[in-house]
Amino acid sequence: MIKEGSETILSVKNLTANVENTPILKGVNLEIKAGEIHAIMGRNGSGKSTFSKVLAGHPAYEVTGGEIIYKGENIIEKPPEERALLGIFLAFQYPIEIAGVSNLDFLRAAYNAKCKHLGKEELDPFDFEDLVEEKLDVVKMKSSFLERSLNQGFSGGEKKRNEIVQMALLEPSLAILDETDSGLDIDALRIVANGVNQLATPNNAYIVITHYQRLLNYIEPDYVHVMQNGQIVTSGGKELALELESRGYDFLAEEEVSEVKV
Ligand code: ADP
Ligand code: MG
Repeated sequence: MIKEGSETILSVKNLTANVENTPILKGVNLEIKAGEIHAIMGRNGSGKSTFSKVLAGHPAYEVTGGEIIYKGENIIEKPPEERALLGIFLAFQYPIEIAGVSNLDFLRAAYNAKCKHLGKEELDPFDFEDLVEEKLDVVKMKSSFLERSLNQGFSGGEKKRNEIVQMALLEPSLAILDETDSGLDIDALRIVANGVNQLATPNNAYIVITHYQRLLNYIEPDYVHVMQNGQIVTSGGKELALELESRGYDFLAEEEVSEVKV
């Protein structure tokens, strides 16, 4: 679905990046407008998580060429915290556990940092708790998770749901979900997808990275891209995901993948 006239949120041009001096991204091109949901699929090791971390500004990844234009500005030189304040949010494939930092304190610190950046009043613990309760509801999470250390002892599904709570609080313009579906049973998958669908608006955009098509039964993408060897080798509508599901990634190799469509 082409949404004419929407603001371009992200424009990635010929992006190349290394990890420990090894080239991983080898010329990624991607254009995303407000209101769009883009799925990125691809085999394990094709560079999907690397791409998401490079977008978020992870310091272990060295950009060697190309541009990342976010809302009209090249952000390659910006540190991750600044990108977050500008509205880029990454839900990790493997959320980290932080002992001794309560989930509630973590969420409030993140939320208040954003308020400060926007020149809005920061919330005290009481007001914040009211707000966060609403957000927990988006993914049907119990309040008891707020008192626990961040992600510590959370199941895989609980960690992923907690990422969506963060997203609901921060209201990013560009949310990148890296395999948020992995490790989720079907009920948790529905809850997470439903959360994303509630949060998607005409003003924000989503990159949903997934290995399997099943998530896309619940989150309907406008575009599907396939990453292979550090490049987006083919793009299409949601039917491309179904084709990948039935034919596997191998069928791409049989076809003209050198014809890069963006
Ligand atoms: P995907 O998410 O598509 O499975 P990744 O982006 O995680 O792929 O990985 C792409 C390639 O980059 C893989 O060959 C992986 O081993 C390599 N890679 C990713 N991160 C690192 C790292 N920190 N150090 C060394 N190699 C890495
Ligand atoms: Mg990955």
